[in-house]
Amino acid sequence: MADHDVRRRSTAVTTQQVDLAIIGSGSGNSIPDERFDAAGIAIFEEGVYGGTCLNVGCIPTKMFVYAADVAASARTASTYGVDASVNSVDWPAIVNRVFGRIDPISEGGKEYRVDRCENVTVYTSHVRFDGRDGDRYRLVTDAGDEVLAREVVIAAGSRSDVPPVIAGSGIRYYTNSDVMRLPALPKRLAIVGSGYIAAEFAHVFGALGVDVTVIARSGRLLRALDDDVSERFTDLAAQEWTVRLNATMTGAAQQADGSIRLEFADGDPVEADAVLVATGRTPNGDRLGLESIGVALLDDGRVPVDAHGRTPAENVWALGDVSSPYQLKHVANHEQRIVQGNLLRGWGSDDLAAFDHRYVPFAVFTHPQIAAVGLTEAQARDTGRDITVKVQNYGDVAYGWAMEDTTGFCKLIADRATGEILGAHLIGPQASTVIQPVIQAMSFGLGAREMARGQYWIHPAMPEVLENALLGLELD
Ligand SMILES: Cc1cc2nc3c(=O)[nH]c(=O)nc-3n(C[C@H](O)[C@H](O)[C@H](O)COP(=O)(O)OP(=O)(O)OC[C@H]3O[C@@H](n4cnc5c(N)ncnc54)[C@H](O)[C@@H]3O)c2cc1C
Repeated sequence: MADHDVRRRSTAVTTQQVDLAIIGSGSGNSIPDERFDAAGIAIFEEGVYGGTCLNVGCIPTKMFVYAADVAASARTASTYGVDASVNSVDWPAIVNRVFGRIDPISEGGKEYRVDRCENVTVYTSHVRFDGRDGDRYRLVTDAGDEVLAREVVIAAGSRSDVPPVIAGSGIRYYTNSDVMRLPALPKRLAIVGSGYIAAEFAHVFGALGVDVTVIARSGRLLRALDDDVSERFTDLAAQEWTVRLNATMTGAAQQADGSIRLEFADGDPVEADAVLVATGRTPNGDRLGLESIGVALLDDGRVPVDAHGRTPAENVWALGDVSSPYQLKHVANHEQRIVQGNLLRGWGSDDLAAFDHRYVPFAVFTHPQIAAVGLTEAQARDTGRDITVKVQNYGDVAYGWAMEDTTGFCKLIADRATGEILGAHLIGPQASTVIQPVIQAMSFGLGAREMARGQYWIHPAMPEVLENALLGLELD
């Protein structure tokens, strides 16, 4: 089975034959476990080892968010009769806390694969397909190495979109890849984009004292969310940051003093000391030479896969942001586990496992937190089902009183006849945690009635907002 001989050429460029090639060291890096010890494996990583979530995504952003939450709490302490204030923010210390923890994990992960996995070869270069060689796929790196693989897993992730008006302007701009390592906090930060990455960074930098302007092309922030949540968040955001809605950017220029001026169709410019671009993410499948193996990308740029993670090219699998309809780490991890099991079963096996995309939840770690699962109210109405909707305010339950919360709510949508929960949308403190029982109920087919009265709800904990929302649904 082992198939990992390396034939060195005089140029020091190598040709290697492997059983399995994995493109991307994010979720893809978790595939080789002891069950793959007999297989020769190549892992390709052109960036930082460990992928987006670990290095420039979920984990560092949430570590920054925690610091921001602490600062925000201190600022509102007087609400509770506590005298506190944010006197200063030590940005280098915040950055060091985050990356002092993360960088060693990334380095350790790479070192483990390079030094301690005899059957794994790590290539630190961009790789692309270059057709086939018999029953193998030829993969060539920018460094000139060639790998011939029987099977390939594409786990190449996604990258930040940068609108042409910014990309072509010559200004210095940041993305999630580098904004968390800014040498110093800017006085004014313009965030271009209105999705969850923009919302999280607005909270981080705003709470740490930066004058934030959020620039949205549409009329609302987080517009993909349930309308009530998106509207509430847009209103709250406008109280914390400068929010420019329906903004059409027409130009961007670096000023003599280093600041940046963004021009808009309405003639009202934004001046900032730094610009963060957070306008969405493009799957990386367009940089893989997939045409050479007969795989065409979907209209939205994703690598096509079936429910088992198989691309149209035999023995080529894909998972995570590069192919998934959900750009979320818990989904990438799930898809990795499915593909991992299916690799062991074999491409043509008749008991391949399938992705479960039924109830994919997500959270936005902004201020206040947001979390959702299932259908929005508009989507639920579009199904034509007879639905019942309950919006329960955080402020109506005891822990909400304790926090003096006046803006949070939990919205539940259910089928009136059956009690099936169709969607849950929360905006408010601890939303990412409070929502978990609904995800569980939906995943295991627990109806609203049974969920509400079939268990104890700890009093007076925040999930009582969920309990009351369930009890408020008008079920037949
Ligand atoms: C700022 C930010 C915050 C986020 N927060 C959350 C969150 O809170 N919760 C959540 O669930 N998700 C979050 N996400 C999304 C999450 O990070 C991704 O869904 C997840 O990391 C995708 O994993 P992946 O394995 O598909 O890709 P990645 O982890 O991106 O791994 C792909 C790897 O492939 C490498 N690569 C690509 N092409 C090639 C090539 N041709 N040759 C060699 N190497 C290549 C890349 O360098 C990359 O390291 C966040 C993302 C961002 C950007």
